[in-house]
Amino acid sequence: MNIFEKLKRGEVKLYQLDKILGYKKATEVRRKFLEEKLNIKFNHIDKYSISEENVKKNIENMIGAIQIPLGVAGPIKVNGEYAKGLFYIPLATTEGALVASVNRGCSIVTKCGGTTVRVVEDKMTRAPCLKTKSIVDALKVRDWILENFDKIKEVAESTTRHGKLIKIDPIPIVGRNLYPRFVYTTGDAMGMNMVTIATEEACKFIEEELNKKGIYVKVVSISGNACVDKKPAGMNVVNGRGKSVVAEIYLEGEEVEKYLKTSPEAIAEVNRLKNYIGSAIANSMGFNAHYANIVGAIFLATGQDEAHIVEGSLGITMAEVEGDKLYFSVTLPDLPLATIGGGTSVETQREALEIMGCYGSNKVMKFAEIVASAVLAGELSLLGALASGHLGKAHKELGR
Ligand code: NAP
Repeated sequence: MNIFEKLKRGEVKLYQLDKILGYKKATEVRRKFLEEKLNIKFNHIDKYSISEENVKKNIENMIGAIQIPLGVAGPIKVNGEYAKGLFYIPLATTEGALVASVNRGCSIVTKCGGTTVRVVEDKMTRAPCLKTKSIVDALKVRDWILENFDKIKEVAESTTRHGKLIKIDPIPIVGRNLYPRFVYTTGDAMGMNMVTIATEEACKFIEEELNKKGIYVKVVSISGNACVDKKPAGMNVVNGRGKSVVAEIYLEGEEVEKYLKTSPEAIAEVNRLKNYIGSAIANSMGFNAHYANIVGAIFLATGQDEAHIVEGSLGITMAEVEGDKLYFSVTLPDLPLATIGGGTSVETQREALEIMGCYGSNKVMKFAEIVASAVLAGELSLLGALASGHLGKAHKELGR
């Protein structure tokens, strides 16, 4: 009986095909199976140039690839510690007017001297939930963790060449449970696999050592949600996660009038009443206009974990009038990024990283500075359009 018949009878599962047929053939057979079962035809999902073998660690049950249009904005001038010069920004999106808006922002930023940008913090976190028998024991476990940090660090770091455990802080206690937040640097990788494996090893050590002393402690979940991974959280805004990046620029009043057709005062007012007051009444954590737009389009283009767009959407935009100038900045406390690992080596995503010279080792800080600069460009362009009343017009022309 051929494999197709076996699939139809349920004797072979879709996920088993890779082992039986190899990744390329298995992908084709899964697609054909769905076509027949659902009575549809794939004329596009079946066309792609990435190799099934190369993405075997990125996807299960592969049936093909989705194409997202890729645009480019820029160049934008960046005056960072790591990124210096002019950069084009790859943006994968189906949202009309987004690339045009970021492009406009890049052009204005470049004419006005470029962004000043710095990575102010660098960390990746995992916070398991540890259960004990009582609050008294929970305190004993907390004290033991703090006293034995060097040993825990050695155990955690034995699992990785690039991951370094910097601290375990904070260690919130809820009832008899603890949520120690393990904080690492992870080199050029975003680091979630790396820190999860390292924290697992560390927790095994904590359990064993304390159980030997007669103190019951058990890992209930290696992620106790105080990490905080893939969810918007005040914890990440205050403590940072991934790369915490700040970008700024000063624009002359004349430049604001010439390029944005508005004034520093009008942009500052829109920023105050929209991004601060509007966000406050909505109880939003994003005191900005649209970080997620730029972060999302770059993340999709470059093989970042798309669920981290929610973290990249957090942050505060500042617009202040200073004499004749406009001071404008974006602060992104929570930008999990990678130039190695995850989806960065998928052929198309790698090429998108290469547009910025950001694929591979020793590139992640540069990448973070470029992303924050692009966010500033997008934010400036949108707030300018809102202040001058041009937003609806641009969207009518470009997006509909
Ligand atoms: P990864 O691709 O699992 O690991 C990165 C690998 O690159 C490691 O093996 C590391 O080796 C190696 N490496 C080589 N050169 C490096 C350099 N210069 N800097 C850093 N590492 C280098 O990626 P990850 O960043 O740890 O995890 C990202 C993936 O985790 C994404 O696919 C994401 O979707 C997924 N994810 C996982 C979880 C989870 O809980 N497990 C949660 C969210 C997302 P060494 O380790 O020996 O240094």
